[in-house]
Amino acid sequence: MSLLDTDPDTGLAPLEFAVTRNLAARPPAARAEILAAPGFGQHFTDHMVDICWSVGGGWHRPRVQPYGPITLDPAAAVLHYGQEVFEGIKAYRHADGGIYTFRPDQNGRRLQRSARRLALPELPVAYFLQSLRELIAVDGDWVPDGEDQSLYLRPFMFAKEAFLGVRPAHKVGYYVIASPAGAYFKGGVTPVSIWLSEEYTRAAKGGTGAAKTGGNYAASLLPQSEAYENECDQVVFLDQDGNVEELGGMNIVFVYKDGTLVTPQSDSILEGVTRESILQLARDRGHRVEGRGVSLAEWREGVASGDIVEVFACGTAAVVTPIGQLKGREFFDEQPSGSLALSLREELTEIQYGRREDRHGWLVRLDG
Ligand SMILES: *Cc1c(COP(=O)(O)O)cnc(C)c1O
Repeated sequence: MSLLDTDPDTGLAPLEFAVTRNLAARPPAARAEILAAPGFGQHFTDHMVDICWSVGGGWHRPRVQPYGPITLDPAAAVLHYGQEVFEGIKAYRHADGGIYTFRPDQNGRRLQRSARRLALPELPVAYFLQSLRELIAVDGDWVPDGEDQSLYLRPFMFAKEAFLGVRPAHKVGYYVIASPAGAYFKGGVTPVSIWLSEEYTRAAKGGTGAAKTGGNYAASLLPQSEAYENECDQVVFLDQDGNVEELGGMNIVFVYKDGTLVTPQSDSILEGVTRESILQLARDRGHRVEGRGVSLAEWREGVASGDIVEVFACGTAAVVTPIGQLKGREFFDEQPSGSLALSLREELTEIQYGRREDRHGWLVRLDG
């Protein structure tokens, strides 16, 4: 579909972005220095997308403008009531120079689901896709070409109306910023240790756990500090039925000795695009896949008996991470190590970087 075409599904004409170039954009040498060792989430490109929404005006004033501070009224609703949602998706440089992203329709639809739960307006998926393309059109040179490098795109939306009454805001801003990202694991993927949060949960039945919203992350910070204090890398949460939920930023998958992959299912879990894709690749290889409740007892007993042969976490930032240890107040369980997680990780990243056939049609070109 050309950018100038009307979306066949929605009948929406594309937005007309006003583009203001950043006169202080980093010169190529300064950019190259950043791309040589970008880390994660520390450096940002020269531009950002900014689209306004209001009750009367709908989506309007689409812009690409110099990256920089957003001016907010101190009474802006997001600062008081946390009405905010976001997304995370990567752009990959292929060997032919082209810039691709992975299943952006999934992220666009998830942003709509998150927005609905937070009583924010739903950005049409066509506008979501266009916003990524418009940013890449000006900042495409920021997509690194090193091994396992990418440009992390962070679309987000929040209530900017200055009003302290408690109701959905009448004025909202949608933005996209971008941050070059290096290989998550330097020197090979290493298993992480997981702290079991026994006191705190991140979400509740009927709450906002399935939405990608800042509040869920705010709720996870204290338990994450507890994980660090206990020499663990990450924290795993249980839901209120005592079932395993997720890591707070990554979903969890158990591999059983008969080859079945089991992942927790509950309405308080954020449904990751990475998890869904990994499970599809496993199904393609003939593995059985189940989404169902998994109790902590099933996990611990499964590992002890040898029924569970691998446990891994997955999400866009780190892709797939084997879990090496599970630690609680009263116990410490070494986790079995296997090769399936890393082999699925390899297959997924090869598709994302264009080194393997994209048989599901998951890639979408962002440039040109
Ligand atoms: C983003 C996120 C994930 C992973 O989702 P992906 O689409 O795979 O990146 C998992 N859990 C939470 C809470 C998240 O916010």
